Amino acid sequence: MSAPLILVTNDDGIGATGLRVMAGQLEAIGEVIVAAPDREQSAVGHGISLARPLRVTDARDGWHAVSGTPADCVMLALLQLCPRRPSLVVSGMNVGVNLGADVFYSGTVAGALEGAIHEIPAIAVSQDLAVDVPIGELLARTARFASALAAQVLDKGLPPRSALNINAPSVLTEEFRWTRHGRRAYREQADRRLDLRGVPYYWIGGPPLACDHEPGTDGHTLAEGLISVTLLGLDLTAPPPSWYDQWRPGRSAR
Ligand code: MN
Repeated sequence: MSAPLILVTNDDGIGATGLRVMAGQLEAIGEVIVAAPDREQSAVGHGISLARPLRVTDARDGWHAVSGTPADCVMLALLQLCPRRPSLVVSGMNVGVNLGADVFYSGTVAGALEGAIHEIPAIAVSQDLAVDVPIGELLARTARFASALAAQVLDKGLPPRSALNINAPSVLTEEFRWTRHGRRAYREQADRRLDLRGVPYYWIGGPPLACDHEPGTDGHTLAEGLISVTLLGLDLTAPPPSWYDQWRPGRSAR
């Protein structure tokens, strides 16, 4: 039996160290094909390029740089670049975590969810920024952990319409916890500035604040210094409120 094909993408771009380390580690468990954006595409979410052509540059054997988003990369790889259907999609590893609402903005998570949409098991991998541990050691640790989990997923699969979201802390632990999707707050800013012609422009962003304080969530677990693994589902339906059953159009409450 031939080795399983593993499609690897990211949102930091084809030149990113995290992608090289992740793809390198996955070589041990399968045949790796890389389709990654030709430049950084962080926080582009799940966008796809319908209004412009995609160009593909072959960086080296099995490595394709795509002039699009991570979701573009996965879609194009599945439809054109892959020699056969991949058994797994891995997105990352990203430098910077994807917790709480980050997953809605993250190109890394979108790359994995694009795999899930196409009914291929998928894993997003993100590494917290380090202060005092060399980033190379953290990337190597997280790649080993993600690759071990990838081998399990290749063997046992995942529930349909789901993907795993791995976030690794900036301490060198191999300990992990299955977590649930929590919340993450930022000190949101929208700076108003003037360009050289005196015309105002705005810049949104801002630093993260403390994560979710609820035990068992992705952010809380990472803050405890453990690797967090969350199974994300494509079904975003929320539990209904109590008034759902009674309500009919034209019979609204006073
Ligand atoms: Mn990124």
